[in-house]
Amino acid sequence: MATKPTALIIGAGIAGLSAAWWLDKAGWKSILVERSSAIRDGGYVMSLAGPSRSTINQMGLRETLEEIAIKFEENIILDKNGHEVIRFGYEDVHGSGPEGSLAICRHDLARVISQQLPDSTVIRFNETLGDVHEEGDKIKATLKTSGETIEADLVIGADGVRSDVRSRFWNDTDCLEHLGYSYAAYDVEATTTSMLTSTCVTYNSPGHADILYELKNKRLAGLHLWRDDVVQLNDRSDRMKTVREATAGTGIKAVSDVVSQADKSGCTPVVDSLIMVNLPQWSKGRVLLLGDAAHCLTLISGQGAGMAMVSAEILGKELKANKDVAQALANHEKRLRPAIKRLQDRSRSMAAVAKAELKLLEE
Ligand SMILES: Cc1cc2nc3c(=O)[nH]c(=O)nc-3n(C[C@H](O)[C@H](O)[C@H](O)COP(=O)(O)OP(=O)(O)OC[C@H]3O[C@@H](n4cnc5c(N)ncnc54)[C@H](O)[C@@H]3O)c2cc1C
Repeated sequence: MATKPTALIIGAGIAGLSAAWWLDKAGWKSILVERSSAIRDGGYVMSLAGPSRSTINQMGLRETLEEIAIKFEENIILDKNGHEVIRFGYEDVHGSGPEGSLAICRHDLARVISQQLPDSTVIRFNETLGDVHEEGDKIKATLKTSGETIEADLVIGADGVRSDVRSRFWNDTDCLEHLGYSYAAYDVEATTTSMLTSTCVTYNSPGHADILYELKNKRLAGLHLWRDDVVQLNDRSDRMKTVREATAGTGIKAVSDVVSQADKSGCTPVVDSLIMVNLPQWSKGRVLLLGDAAHCLTLISGQGAGMAMVSAEILGKELKANKDVAQALANHEKRLRPAIKRLQDRSRSMAAVAKAELKLLEE
């Protein structure tokens, strides 16, 4: 039996795990390299909508995801004085049934996909990429911790918005577009649930949105989005301090209660600047970027996880149809780019409108 071509995938997030699933269907073997010690926790819920619903169905994940989906009833938006501005039903905005969106915790989605991977897929946790170089149509890579060497036919950088693979092979500083906002996301035990007057409550004040929502298993999530020009917020070591500082001025008791609860619980929030990744090409030779590493859409447009799954599907199908890897990568990019452009344009214009409104209020 001929040896299967091998993909070395850096990052076992939504893009990396989905790629391993689809590459298996294309007759490839995958080795995943993940920096964390296990499938990473996310602390936030994602809406899976649009074309990702078809990908989910083809991966046979629909029933499981429908079972674990969070059923938000409505979102109440309040101003900083606690006065209701608007309330809307989740399904009115996100649709329902097979075409509607599924609200899934990031780590639940990653766990469900990882459970569907074949035994031939290897995941190396607590590991990162060491030296890597191309030799003809192969890539030779060394892993940093174990020193293991791997010969691969394709290296996939699925290591998120702050991609190490991207910084090695592309001009990393030129491709980041900062939208002028930062965010923090985490989840805590829901001892404060009684304070929520709905399954999801959004406090809106100029330049600030603080969203508190219920998860399953008596947990509560906090998501804060604020106007900020810091572009490297992910580098700050004390992330909870950033959350405290960012929410200090809101003066909303429900928000400060949840923040102080998160503080006491010792959780590590996801904190970063809102940046998009713009690259003229997502592959170089036998190195391909996938998901946020290639084209982060930001949480404003949503669909980053959904499009990472769609991208993996297209990649798998192209690699199945084409023995010529370069042709498969070119076809993958050509098919995916229009949708990515549309979603990035949406993020860009939504951030610009929010900034313009804030400026008007400040004048
Ligand atoms: C608050 C918030 C809300 C969101 N809401 C939605 C939504 O409603 N719908 C939606 O579709 N998307 C949403 N998104 C976007 C979505 O989370 C991302 O687009 C998606 O997770 C991208 O998947 P990824 O696999 O490319 O990157 P990630 O999920 O970031 O995974 C990258 C993986 O690579 C690992 N890694 C990083 N660096 C290295 C390294 N050097 N070596 C080895 N491993 C490494 C990380 O530990 C991680 O496991 C949201 C994002 C946020 C932050």
